[in-house]
Amino acid sequence: MIQAKAYAALAQDAQLEPWNFERRDVGPHDVQVQILYCGVCHTDIHNVHNDWGISIFPLVPGHEIVGKIIAVGEHVTKFKVGDTAGVGTIIHSCRECEDCQSGHEQFCSVSPVQTYNNLDTEGKPTYGGYSNTIVVNEDFTHHISDKLDLAAVAPLLCAGITTWSPLRKWKVGKGHKLAVVGLGGLGHMAVKFGVALGAEVTIISTSPNKAEAAKELGAHHFVVSKDDEQMKSVFHSFDFVLDSVSADHDINPYLAILKTNGTYINLGLPPKPWEISSFSVVAGNKAITGSGVGGLQETQNMLDFCAENNIVSDIELIDMKDINTAFDRLAKGDVRYRFVIDMSTL
Ligand code: NAP
Ligand code: ZN
Repeated sequence: MIQAKAYAALAQDAQLEPWNFERRDVGPHDVQVQILYCGVCHTDIHNVHNDWGISIFPLVPGHEIVGKIIAVGEHVTKFKVGDTAGVGTIIHSCRECEDCQSGHEQFCSVSPVQTYNNLDTEGKPTYGGYSNTIVVNEDFTHHISDKLDLAAVAPLLCAGITTWSPLRKWKVGKGHKLAVVGLGGLGHMAVKFGVALGAEVTIISTSPNKAEAAKELGAHHFVVSKDDEQMKSVFHSFDFVLDSVSADHDINPYLAILKTNGTYINLGLPPKPWEISSFSVVAGNKAITGSGVGGLQETQNMLDFCAENNIVSDIELIDMKDINTAFDRLAKGDVRYRFVIDMSTL
């Protein structure tokens, strides 16, 4: 076994603290990654608080992982020692079911394994990227271009693919008006991709103080959702609304800003179910859909697109010891726009 160091929540709602554990040995199809950077996703907070009732403690969060390959199994063909690599939210699937075969490995119906807070195929808990190293099957490891700032690439492995996937699926681009609700880790990547794909992008935010910085992301318009007049001014105007809100919220006002035949794409995972007026969707033939991260091939496509178009996240790099302060700030929406942990400080 490989000795690993991490920061873990030892119980629900606990502060994260140093914790040691073991990773499996490098198997014939595995690579071992020395983790350089790991992004801090709001999902990490949901899991530590056990918001969805599925948390396994001790819990080592982190599924936005970038690092260097330091060992490869004897049958590995995709990577060699020294390569830069990324690991996202999934580390195993059956590769044979309909979902796996159609590039939706994240929804594998047989043996999906998430990077952390899940059980692996042997029934052992998985531990994420707030650690110094991880062992992963090469197929679930992605090539990362060295051209980009690696710390700022880390969030692409979750925030990036989660926003890229629905924008591509719905062919959002030139001629479309896209509203992005919530300007956090996911939201700011949705803005960058929406603009890069040619859409007219409006940010709908609860935080007026994000207006100036938001324009630097390339957004065309900024609307404060708490201001009724501003919300009225965008009534019935968007082809797509992409909701990246982490907290419980009323989605009816956001359905009202869709045009006829518009599509509401939900990405956020707040704990409570929505209450939706039937009129919110019947009037205007509106569709509500969701999207969960992305498959292996589309993740690599997104990473390649980012390398070609010089797209990375806007980040605040933090030391490992400052993770609890970062969680507190992220819970308040106070980050521009993703915390990334410098794992050399672990
Ligand atoms: P984040 O960085 O904290 O961003 C969430 C944003 O939501 C905040 O910055 C804030 O933006 C807005 N917000 C917060 N409370 C709000 C409220 N009460 N009403 C309206 N807006 C509010 O979080 P994230 O990492 O982007 O993740 C967002 C959500 O997506 C989380 O629930 C996470 O678990 C989920 N997620 C889903 C997937 C998936 O596969 N679908 C993948 C990753 C994460 P403003 O200040 O601009 O209002
Ligand atoms: Zn995530």
